[in-house]
Amino acid sequence: MNKISLNFLVKNRYLTDRFLFRTYAVSSEDIEKIRKFKEDRKKNFEDPLRTFNAIKDEFGRYKKGQFKLPPLKVPLYSEYVVIGGGIMGSSIAYSLKNRAPDSFEVMVIERDPKYTRASTTLSVGGIRQQYSLEENIKLSMYSAEFLRNVKQHLSVLDDDPPDIQFQPQGYLFLATEAGEEQMLKNHKLQKGLGAKVELMKPNHLKKKFPWMNTDGIALGSYGYENEGWFDPWALLSAFKRKAISLGTTYVHGEVIGFEIEKYLPVKGEDSVPELRSNFLYLKDELGDIHCVEFGYLVIAGGAYSSDIARLLHIGEGPGLLSVPIPVEPRKRYVYVFNCPTGPGIDMPLLIDPSGVYVRREGLGGKYICGRSPAPNEEPDTSNLEVDYNFFESHVWPTLCQRIPLFECIKHSDNSKVSSAWAGFYDYNTFDQNAIFGPHPYFNNVFLATGFSDHGIQMAPAVGRAMMELLIDKCYITIDLSKFHLNRVYQEKPLYEQHIV
Ligand SMILES: Cc1cc2nc3c(=O)[nH]c(=O)nc-3n(C[C@H](O)[C@H](O)[C@H](O)COP(=O)(O)OP(=O)(O)OC[C@H]3O[C@@H](n4cnc5c(N)ncnc54)[C@H](O)[C@@H]3O)c2cc1C
Repeated sequence: MNKISLNFLVKNRYLTDRFLFRTYAVSSEDIEKIRKFKEDRKKNFEDPLRTFNAIKDEFGRYKKGQFKLPPLKVPLYSEYVVIGGGIMGSSIAYSLKNRAPDSFEVMVIERDPKYTRASTTLSVGGIRQQYSLEENIKLSMYSAEFLRNVKQHLSVLDDDPPDIQFQPQGYLFLATEAGEEQMLKNHKLQKGLGAKVELMKPNHLKKKFPWMNTDGIALGSYGYENEGWFDPWALLSAFKRKAISLGTTYVHGEVIGFEIEKYLPVKGEDSVPELRSNFLYLKDELGDIHCVEFGYLVIAGGAYSSDIARLLHIGEGPGLLSVPIPVEPRKRYVYVFNCPTGPGIDMPLLIDPSGVYVRREGLGGKYICGRSPAPNEEPDTSNLEVDYNFFESHVWPTLCQRIPLFECIKHSDNSKVSSAWAGFYDYNTFDQNAIFGPHPYFNNVFLATGFSDHGIQMAPAVGRAMMELLIDKCYITIDLSKFHLNRVYQEKPLYEQHIV
């Protein structure tokens, strides 16, 4: 009897016999589906005649020399299961498989393989070294090096090498007098870590960027290497394709619940029962339920990671389960406009002290821009509609004041904005920084989420860090222990000053 059918008979019997504690699922409809799925499974395996016939079938096949069953639509078991096939999940899967392609199974579960609402594909794909935290600077510098050699890392035999359309161009952060001290502090840290950044006084800025109005600016910080932007879709596709070529299984489905077992960690009547989980339920594109057994679980569900964690009772139980993952979707608009007489090719990605950012898009006089809303202006996240008034009231005035050449779009034929889109930040409401590493309650559950505005650029380094944590059981390349969930329990936020 081959391995698959053995798994099928043994593991599912085990499941229905032992794991009937409670299923946490998203909606009452899903709970009902899971209940029915379990009931059917139980019936099948409790029926000795069915089991006998299944074994008989197997031996029949074996006798006919048919040693392999057709592959299952959803494998029953995977040592590592990653929920979310965006840039984080795909980079983690790639790093795991790249380390040891034949040693274990890796499965990525993604509910929307077209990525219509994923942060990754709706991002603007920028990379910079200018952060205020050592970890973020290191993650970004590692990723820049990875992207420089992306063809070497992510090429797949007999396929064209990936082309992520990398545009090397520095970020220019501008500070008023109030922000000068922080900028000097950040600069010292960045330089100490080897980042290629320089500070510029207003007269220097004016010389280098004559189109800029430096009124109110005390200092600028410009990155002259390791910064720029790339095509997010191309990078995601490259990670995914490479991960698959190394043996990762991508499954189209939505994780809707976990089978949770209650057990006594220490023998004795007084010990408190703990929960653990090694089984998840997913709903495929036809609405059918599948059960997957896992050894380790990585939650990389972007803006929806907290919802996935809740299925494991995280944020809804006592003690260590009482703290939810502080990540939620926050809508951000990106506006595109034409200005053929704008600053042109040498323009850096400029970030005004107000938070308005702008960069060129391509070489034909197009620009993209945006700004994060103030906390009291956060838009509705139930849809991805764009608020064009936000551009008029919160972006356009600053843009024109800082770069008077952009006045030209006022006179363009139609509206100022030629197109626009919205996406969700995987926003960490606690301190706008990554929530990474092991969950303190479940020793087989890990998190990679909450990067807010800077996830896509850090994905190569984050994938590697997760691989080290899972396989080596410690950090080897970059220590990310400051990003563990512990800081949320201890109420010690780790603020990144440079969130755009
Ligand atoms: C407008 C905008 C601009 C940005 N600009 C930048 C930038 O310049 N530089 C930068 O570094 N970052 C930027 N970001 C942030 C960056 O895009 C994100 O931090 C990063 O893409 C997060 O990747 P992810 O894989 O965690 O999330 P996602 O890409 O959202 O992937 C998570 C996936 O999980 C899946 N999923 C969720 N729940 C389930 C479930 N229950 N079952 C199965 N699948 C599930 C989702 O379908 C989704 O595809 C920007 C974001 C936005 C919105």
